[in-house]
Amino acid sequence: MKTIGLIGGMSWESSVGYYRVINEEVKRRLGGLHSATCILFSVDFEEIERYQAEGDWVSAGNKLAEVAQSLEKAGAEFIIICTNTMHKVIHFIEEKITIPILHIADATAKEIHKSKIQKVGLLGTKYTMEQDFYKSRLESNNLAVMVPTEADRVRLNNIIFNELCLGKIEQDSREFLKKVIDSLVDRGAEGIILGCTEIGLLIMAEDVNVPLYDTALIHAVEAVHFSLGIDE
Ligand code: GLU
Repeated sequence: MKTIGLIGGMSWESSVGYYRVINEEVKRRLGGLHSATCILFSVDFEEIERYQAEGDWVSAGNKLAEVAQSLEKAGAEFIIICTNTMHKVIHFIEEKITIPILHIADATAKEIHKSKIQKVGLLGTKYTMEQDFYKSRLESNNLAVMVPTEADRVRLNNIIFNELCLGKIEQDSREFLKKVIDSLVDRGAEGIILGCTEIGLLIMAEDVNVPLYDTALIHAVEAVHFSLGIDE
């Protein structure tokens, strides 16, 4: 079993889920008292969010690269970045370490391709929905990507940073998100990517009539498969 290095804390509300899912998947696969060998480096999200808001991706990238180096020194054999947004700086991190990083969008695309789905709606932070780093990664995995309207993107971004990352789950926000998903489906989306690791705290499969792809869940399970050498 390879040791997983987790870069977490962005936010910790979703890192908790990663830790649980990773251990549950190891237990499911190996049985008995087996649990994951993993190292979590949880950052102070206030600092990272400030860099994001200021557009200072160099400082954010340098910070996460230092974290990744610490994880490698501590014995991690590969790394997962437990947020979609911060994959924007994956190249800063890759330059500073010798171990691989499992990209969250690649893991998600691989899961989506298990069905015939080709057109997806993408929900996430404004950075993930509006900038190219994430959509282009999905497109290079042969997926057509659509995002909500500008007004809906603004409201969703506020929900992520002002509610979900603070552990607040609001019924109004859930209803709003269902409407956003319905309008993406009306525009042709065959599946919806929950492209922010906290969105799965708000909306679940039973809330909608379209397949949901929860990136946090998919990424955590993929990390276990990589750790155990399972190819599925
Ligand atoms: N966890 C979120 C994501 O998956 C948002 C927090 C962040 O900006 O890193 O994008």
